[in-house]
Amino acid sequence: MLNVQNVTKQFGKFTAVDQLSFEVPSGEMLGFLGGNGAGKTTTFRMILGLLERDAGEITYKGQPITYAVTDHIGYLPEERGLNPKLKVSEQLTYLASLKGMKKADIKREIDYWLERFEVTENKEKKIEALSKGNQQKIQLIGAIIHQPDLLILDEPFSGLDPVNVELLKSAVKEINDKGATIIFSSHRMEHVEEMCDRVCILDRGKTVVEGNIQQVKQDFGRKEIIIRGA
Ligand code: ATP
Repeated sequence: MLNVQNVTKQFGKFTAVDQLSFEVPSGEMLGFLGGNGAGKTTTFRMILGLLERDAGEITYKGQPITYAVTDHIGYLPEERGLNPKLKVSEQLTYLASLKGMKKADIKREIDYWLERFEVTENKEKKIEALSKGNQQKIQLIGAIIHQPDLLILDEPFSGLDPVNVELLKSAVKEINDKGATIIFSSHRMEHVEEMCDRVCILDRGKTVVEGNIQQVKQDFGRKEIIIRGA
């Protein structure tokens, strides 16, 4: 279980995340909904230890998140971080080896996911030759290839056409069904609604509402949520 308690981040005098608290029980998929600048990416970066927090506590399975633990975490950053000069196979091999995977496993998983995401023909192409959407698929494969037990996805569906959104959604659901705990951010209630058990809606670094999707919709009404939080 991931536990975020009273976490705060300031950039100078600006408070980007303001005493934020939420929990993600093991095996759950939590939707993290919020408009531009709500604090989603900043929160993710603090969870992963990429950004120091000013206050609060973050634990995963009761322990602080350390490098040993991040081996079991997958992260799709909003700023995609692929090397344009590498071939897809080289890039994915590199990312998987950072997570300590064995060569034979890496090869098998690369082939499985390229096929699953319908990009096998890109295997020996350089990243820079791929469309943005296909680069996004490669980045997602890089985040899931080691079968993480916690997966943090920063706007995984943005910039994709509807067919590819469905393809990625079904893969994310499959990973969740196999037991991974997942948090993903989005601007759009419909993605969260379809995929998640619970939603946390952020506005200016604070939780506007957190709870079961159906309950949240009943309490606030779909239209208001979109205006206020996403
Ligand atoms: P989006 O949906 O646009 O990606 P977000 O919810 O992910 O938004 P964040 O990227 O976490 O929002 O940003 C929250 C706020 O913190 C924004 O106002 C942003 O400008 C500010 N911010 C983020 N990183 C920094 C930084 N390094 N220095 C100064 N301000 C920052």
